[in-house]
Amino acid sequence: MSQWFWNTRSSCLVEITTDNGITGWGECYGPAQAHRTLIESVFAQILIGRDPLQRVSLWDSMYNVTREWGRKGLTMATISGIDIALWDIAGKHVDLPIYQLLGGAAGNAIEAYASAFYYGGSWAGDFEGEAEALLTKGFRSFKMKVGAGPIESDIARVERVRDALGPDARVAVDANRGFTPGEAVKFGRAITDVDPWFFEEPVLPEDRAGYRNVRAALQMPIAGGESEQTRWGFQELLADRIIDIAQPDPTSCGGISETMRIAGMVSAHSLVLYPHTWGTAVAIAASLQVIAALPETVPSMTRTGPVLELDQAPNIYRDELTNLKIGPLMTLPTGPGLGIEVDRGLLKCDAS
Ligand code: MG
Repeated sequence: MSQWFWNTRSSCLVEITTDNGITGWGECYGPAQAHRTLIESVFAQILIGRDPLQRVSLWDSMYNVTREWGRKGLTMATISGIDIALWDIAGKHVDLPIYQLLGGAAGNAIEAYASAFYYGGSWAGDFEGEAEALLTKGFRSFKMKVGAGPIESDIARVERVRDALGPDARVAVDANRGFTPGEAVKFGRAITDVDPWFFEEPVLPEDRAGYRNVRAALQMPIAGGESEQTRWGFQELLADRIIDIAQPDPTSCGGISETMRIAGMVSAHSLVLYPHTWGTAVAIAASLQVIAALPETVPSMTRTGPVLELDQAPNIYRDELTNLKIGPLMTLPTGPGLGIEVDRGLLKCDAS
């Protein structure tokens, strides 16, 4: 990404078992061991013995008990993973996919876009080779990293990727909060002719005025929200009118429950929601279920629906942990709950 290289990643998978033998899976975004500690020391005591179908009440209990030191950050991501597992249980209990419990799914296919063109990794710098590989896989929508600077170098990156992908591809840029507002405006204006699909996290999420300035100065849609959580956090983002595309992450913002609450608020502001997704196949399955049940904000004969983010960095837990088929056109799983089977052989963690 724009500010440093990651050489490891971790995901905390949550497994909840019920007394009638149902197992629900969820995922928490962020440091796995820290989530595990929170689950074992705080949340297990809240959950054990309660009715797993009472997701609203359980969410409120988890939030209220941890309010003084929780509310956002790691704690909310832990609650998110638990909430997803509770939805998986609910779907398995009534033998329906989660999106059906949410009342969703007019179609069964969802387009995925490739999050790619990183600063490091096996393709680093070879935009033409990476573009050809992704186009051959069937991707038609893409997102690339920018923001490391110097700005002229970032502009050249975008122009090279656009040339390599061709005029028909949708190409978004993601600065991962790497620009100052002034830099973001200068960069955004310079790439306007490249017709970016959207400009993600141009500046620091704490700098709402900076976001406002960037959005007012540029003609492209501004996306953000992967660093924000809960209905209260998104209320500020939406009320300030500083984004065009909201990107809550179901594994971080408060789970499937809270993502749907945020979706209602996003809809009320005539905006669209493309969930941020960055984890194992469990996280991808959760985002798929949510996408299939999002409200159509502004009816249209031509506007295409929300898209799934598919990170292209190597990740065996995305590709092989479950039976979910990963690709540019995702088919909604028809099985109950999240609709996936987890391969326990791939999990080396001692859960005892
Ligand atoms: Mg991003």
